[in-house]
Amino acid sequence: MLIYDYIIIGAGAAGLSLADRLCDPAFAGFNILVIDKEIKTGNDRTWCSWYKKPNRYDFLAQKRWKTLHFVGPGGEHIKLDPAPYDYRMLLSAPFYHHIHDRIEKSNHVHFVKAAYFSHTQKEGRVEVLTDQGSYLCNHLFSSVFQGEIDKKKHVYTDQHFKGWVIETPTPAFDDTACTFMDFSIDQGDEVRFMYVLPHSPTKALVELAVFSTTLWSQAGL
Ligand SMILES: Cc1cc2nc3c(=O)[nH]c(=O)nc-3n(C[C@H](O)[C@H](O)[C@H](O)COP(=O)(O)OP(=O)(O)OC[C@H]3O[C@@H](n4cnc5c(N)ncnc54)[C@H](O)[C@@H]3O)c2cc1C
Repeated sequence: MLIYDYIIIGAGAAGLSLADRLCDPAFAGFNILVIDKEIKTGNDRTWCSWYKKPNRYDFLAQKRWKTLHFVGPGGEHIKLDPAPYDYRMLLSAPFYHHIHDRIEKSNHVHFVKAAYFSHTQKEGRVEVLTDQGSYLCNHLFSSVFQGEIDKKKHVYTDQHFKGWVIETPTPAFDDTACTFMDFSIDQGDEVRFMYVLPHSPTKALVELAVFSTTLWSQAGL
């Protein structure tokens, strides 16, 4: 059986970020396998984060905002200038495409579509069991969470997002700024806020974020 130097389980943000770096020629002497139960291609995530320096994925980033709006629970409005940082939005689809493309073109990083079940130590190596068979490696990175969370022992909340991409026939959004957190909505017994992330004057992602100790159903959201 082929022995991989590294196996990465999970080709999401974490696994693909690592795989992307391991595609670099500096790692050409290693044999690397990425395992995921699916090949993700869609915009199932909208990542927004703070930067003050250029970063590796800037060429994929869809939007940057240098002005942010914050709305308090009573409707009070604060305009924020995050300089020297800006707030950058990266949609997951171009990120997934870019790194899967890098893997396809690489001779030393490979991808297999397989559902991971478990792994065990075997003679100083790790054996990874999947629905497509087993794989051996020297080092395993896994971003797949397994096991139970003891909700009594740990502080636990569920974080929910529900977003809609809205397109308008005429300009309706100021796309030089985003509404970072708007707490002026009904809070229930939870913490809730709205995001408005304008892609352009006629297109925006409007998203509800909820932190709750109980999991909402899709219908509830
Ligand atoms: C709508 C949304 C918006 C978000 N926005 C932000 C944001 O703005 N900023 C931020 O920091 N974070 C954000 N997050 C959280 C963000 O998704 C995580 O920070 C990040 O995606 C986690 O990366 P990950 O690789 O750990 O998990 P994931 O990206 O979820 O990847 C896990 C991978 O493991 C695979 N997998 C799972 N089980 C198995 C199995 N048994 N066998 C094989 N493969 C398996 C899955 O298919 C998946 O590809 C957001 C999340 C969502 C859902």
